[in-house]
Amino acid sequence: NTKVTMRRHPAAMVSEDDFAVEETDLPRPGDGQALVKVLYLSLDPYMRPMMDPVRSYVPHLNPGDVMPGATIAEVIESNEPELPQGTVVACSLGWQTHGVVTKDVVRVIDQNAGPVSAALSVLGMTGATAHYGLLELAKPTPDETVVVTAASGAVGGVVGQIAKIKGCRVVGIAGGAEKCRYVVDELGFDACIDYKSPDFEKQLAAATPDYVDVLFENVGGPVLDAVLGRINDHARISLCGNISDYNADEPYGLRGLRHLLMHRVTVHSFVIAEHRDYWPTAIAELSGWLAEGKIKYQEDIAEGLDSAPKAFIAMLTGGNFGKQLVNVGA
Ligand code: NDP
Repeated sequence: NTKVTMRRHPAAMVSEDDFAVEETDLPRPGDGQALVKVLYLSLDPYMRPMMDPVRSYVPHLNPGDVMPGATIAEVIESNEPELPQGTVVACSLGWQTHGVVTKDVVRVIDQNAGPVSAALSVLGMTGATAHYGLLELAKPTPDETVVVTAASGAVGGVVGQIAKIKGCRVVGIAGGAEKCRYVVDELGFDACIDYKSPDFEKQLAAATPDYVDVLFENVGGPVLDAVLGRINDHARISLCGNISDYNADEPYGLRGLRHLLMHRVTVHSFVIAEHRDYWPTAIAELSGWLAEGKIKYQEDIAEGLDSAPKAFIAMLTGGNFGKQLVNVGA
């Protein structure tokens, strides 16, 4: 079994030296257990704050811990009749090639319902995040203006497409012309602004003539400030992520507080792991939209577990294009 562990807590920007690759014996499945080999690993921004020794919504990692994460895995040996050899499951084995599971900690994946990797993206945690944060919390109404940050990413791409289905005007914000083109041409947003362009704020103002009713916020920092400068009265913010701060020496802070007050804005912060009961609702509706061709998704797949640290660091700085996965053994 090969594992990637956290070697030490990163100092600000995470580096490949913060990880270690270790070899151990394959675990043996006991009664009621199955040995699985990991096919795909999901790389997610939340893993970066978990590497810092600070108070959070989950216990932080300690040096030597296996990096956590959602995985898709295939049963290769089984002592559990409900998980025969060849069964493909979603589970949380983290950054390793093999693991032992019981039926209570896995979700069996229908291998005939499209690529199994989708259970780590649009039909998994990221899809549930988009659906819950937009529809249960921000509740946009038709014709409202919805702004989505990290718009070409795993969560953002789905958020914007759901908002389009609901009849909203949807403006994405992403890094670079290629990502912005994809967001408009492929995902069908009404507009997408490159936050790296020198006249970003001017372009944002032009794209939001009626101001911003809903902000699905993934990045924080100066991008958030710019959107708060365009916020409408009684707007709702779904505060999903703050990725610009995850590798920062000093938190950027919330400079646009006055806009929240002046415009009586409601901020809904949430962590999707606390709403597991909601996932089936979200995944069922997203599966339907996917089958009808109403939503699209893109995966960015790195090859081999050894590539996970590099792909993870790239994702945190915009190097990914779509949901970042690692092909561990598919
Ligand atoms: P993405 O696929 O969106 O990848 C991350 C993207 O963030 C990068 O591609 C990059 O896009 C953007 N980014 C990185 N640094 C910056 C920066 N300094 N300023 C602006 N954008 C930046 O990842 P996910 O879809 O998995 O996650 C998106 C957000 O959602 C994250 O903040 C994550 O923590 C959050 N999240 C929260 C959940 C919850 O339960 N609350 C659950 C899942 C995700 P670009 O090239 O456009 O800059």
